[in-house]
Amino acid sequence: MLRDPVEKVSCVGCGYCCIRNTCAFGVALHAHERDKICPELEWTGARYVCKLMGTHPLADFYRQELQSGGGCRSFNNPWRQNVRPRTDEEAQAIVSGTPWPAPDDDYRGGL
Ligand code: SF4
Ligand code: SF4
Repeated sequence: MLRDPVEKVSCVGCGYCCIRNTCAFGVALHAHERDKICPELEWTGARYVCKLMGTHPLADFYRQELQSGGGCRSFNNPWRQNVRPRTDEEAQAIVSGTPWPAPDDDYRGGL
């Protein structure tokens, strides 16, 4: 499929994408904890990071499979403007909720 080149928007670690939609690895590794934020998502004091992509023995594999460094696809989500730890209530409000940007805003979608 041909696509126009798009500007890459850097990840700021707001956590929105992982909280809104736990990835397949998070689901597989924590199948009995689906009612909470992915246990692999960690607040460092400055931003959220995925522990699987840090010091994990398979970190390179996870980084590649999860396209680490590929840019933020939820680039319009409001959490990017206010990076901080989120409460359970805030997290619950976005689970399977509004994608940012809305699907018809831009062909890049709101994953
Ligand atoms: S929504 Fe974007 S900025 Fe926030 S953690 Fe995900 S990729 Fe990073
Ligand atoms: S923290 Fe890691 S394992 Fe959990 S949803 Fe995000 S990328 Fe997936």
